[in-house]
Order: sequence, then structure tokens, then C-alpha cells
Amino acid sequence: MKITDKLEKHQEKSAKPTFSFEYFVPKTTQGVQNLYDRMDRMYETSFPQFVDITWNAGGGMLSQLSTDLVATSQSVLGLETCMHLTCTNMPVSEIDDALQRAYESGCENILALRGDPPLNSKEWTPVEGGFRYAKDLVKYIREKYGDHFGIGVAGYPEGHPEDNDDRDKLVEYLKEKVDAGADFIITQMFYNADIFIKWCEAVRAAGVSVPIIPGIMPITTYAAFLRRAQWCEINVPDEFMKKLDAVKDNDQTVREIGTDLLVSMCQKLLDSGFVNHLHIYTMNLEKAPIMILERLGLLPTDKDVSDAAVAVLPWRKSL
Ligand code: FAD
Repeated sequence: MKITDKLEKHQEKSAKPTFSFEYFVPKTTQGVQNLYDRMDRMYETSFPQFVDITWNAGGGMLSQLSTDLVATSQSVLGLETCMHLTCTNMPVSEIDDALQRAYESGCENILALRGDPPLNSKEWTPVEGGFRYAKDLVKYIREKYGDHFGIGVAGYPEGHPEDNDDRDKLVEYLKEKVDAGADFIITQMFYNADIFIKWCEAVRAAGVSVPIIPGIMPITTYAAFLRRAQWCEINVPDEFMKKLDAVKDNDQTVREIGTDLLVSMCQKLLDSGFVNHLHIYTMNLEKAPIMILERLGLLPTDKDVSDAAVAVLPWRKSL
């Protein structure tokens, strides 16, 4: 089922907000097995609307791992799965292979991205005969597969590190991706709800009406919190710095306080009326995402679970 159809089912103002989980592809066979077990457990505890699998921006074998994981998640674990797909080091023939594998495994959602530069390389350059921008990939998927796939694209509430000066321009580029055929947006992580809400206003004012899904990065350790914020060049509100810096040597307390900060931020996003779905970057960890959802009151009740079991067994779908 397409992500947009799932979101539409929960669109009324009174509807309980929904959520989804992102996972990345581990590098070892044991890591992959551990991840399957974790995805399975997290599904049983929380019933996400969908999961998505990141794309290893290297092409070749690395990318093969992503398509394998998508196929297993969708057709063996039975989770509604969105495959990230990037243009980095990907000639059109490899993009075709990846899309065909996704199609054959029953996957109906693609997050179409340009991709990060490959490892050990600072600058992004297109491969010969490949695509330059995410919008080119969106257009290609639409031309080739019509409406089979729901297509998402990336949004940057605080600008893109390569291209940060003109925020209006970035909203224009986002609109180009949607005009090329995308039907939902997932955002880069952020910690400042006010910046996100202002950006949503600008996106809507530019005539972009597809659903916006905020990307939420749990706080697990102080070092990871700082590193990720610096890497993505995002604003860290004073309240976050003050509260986390004071307990930085105690991971458990950082996680507790970090969860409270993110719960307040998520509540503000949900209250803004721009979003009714949260996308959690799990970093393949279980505890912090579940703590956030629990404190927001978004985990399913026993009744939700038994209703869903009657409706969907033996095949898994979310609530
Ligand atoms: P684009 O929208 O094509 O933008 C790329 C650059 O070109 C930007 O600087 C943009 O400002 C500029 N640009 C866009 N259109 C134009 C135009 N018309 N004229 C001039 N300049 C233009 N990376 C991975 O490798 N694997 C993943 O799985 C992955 N998942 C992600 C998930 C999310 C939700 C997000 C937010 C990012 C993810 N990324 C991933 C990172 C992403 O690939 C990088 O941020 C990448 O640098 C930009 O990708 P994009 O799809 O936004 O590209």
C-alpha cells in the first residue's frame, strides 16, 4: 500500500498521529540478522505505518545489500517498506535493476534522492549517463512505472549543507521535485520546532501541498547528539544544549532528558497542524524510539492491537 494512502486514512484532525521507522543496512551478516529480529520486535510493540531502508550510496555490492533488505522486509517480514534510492554512482541500468527488484518484492514506495557523495569523496558528481538531481530520478520512476510507486523526496527545513544561502531557492527546488511527480516529503532531522513550522509555512505558500513528514532523530548519547547536529548543520536550541550538557557523562540520563526534549518538540509539531505523522530515525536502535512514542501516547492500546489482529491476520499490516 502507498504511504500516502496510509496517511490519508489518518488525516482527520481527531485522528491519532501515526509514525514510521527508518533503518540502515548493517555491514555484516550477523548485523543483518540482528536487525531483522529488531524490526520484528519493534513492529510487534508499536505497529508503525511503514519502515524505510536507507540506500548505501556506493553502487555495486553495497547497493545490493539495500535491495536485499527491502525485499526481505517487504515480502518476508511483511512490513510496508519504502526503499531509499540514490543517484550516487548509479548508471541508469543499476537504477533499473533496483527498481525492478523493489517492484518484484511488492514494495510500493520509493524515497528518491540524489545521494551523499560516496565514501572518501567530498564532492558529488554524476556518473556518465546517470542523473544529476533527485528530481530527474523522480521523473524517471514516474515515466517508467506510472503510478505503481508512491514517491517521496527529501526536504531540508534548515537548508542543505551544499547550498545553504538562499532558502527561497531551496523551496523552489523542493517544488520542482514534487512537480516532477513526488507525492510526499520526508525531512532532514532538526531540533528546533519553530524553524520547522516556519519552513512548512514557506513550503505551503510556494504551492506544495503533498504531506510533509518530519524526520525525528532520538538522542541517545551526548557525543552522537552533537556530532549529528554538526554534520547536518542544524540549529540546537539553548534549552537542548543547557539540559544535555549538564548530564553529558551519563548516557542514561542524556537519553531520559533527550527523550523529554524531543517529546515536547514532537508535540509542538503535531499541534501546529502541519503534520500528523512522525518519522523516526532509529539508527537501528530500539529503546529511544519506543520511549519517545510511549511518552507521546502513540503506542497502540490493547484494543487497537486486537482489532488489527482480527482485521489483518495472517498477513501483517499496520493499524
Ligand atoms: P537534490 O534535491 O537533488 O539536491 C541536491 C543538491 O542540488 C542540493 O544542494 C540542492 O540545493 C541542489 N539542487 C536541487 N535542484 C537544483 C536545481 N534545479 N538547480 C541547482 N541546484 C539544485 N543519502 C544517501 O546516500 N542514502 C540515503 O538513504 C539517504 N536518505 C536520506 C533520507 C532523508 C529523509 C534525507 C533528508 C536525506 C537522505 N540522504 C540519503 C541524504 C541526501 O542524499 C543528501 O542530503 C544529498 O546531498 C541531497 O539529496 P536530495 O535528494 O535532497 O538531492
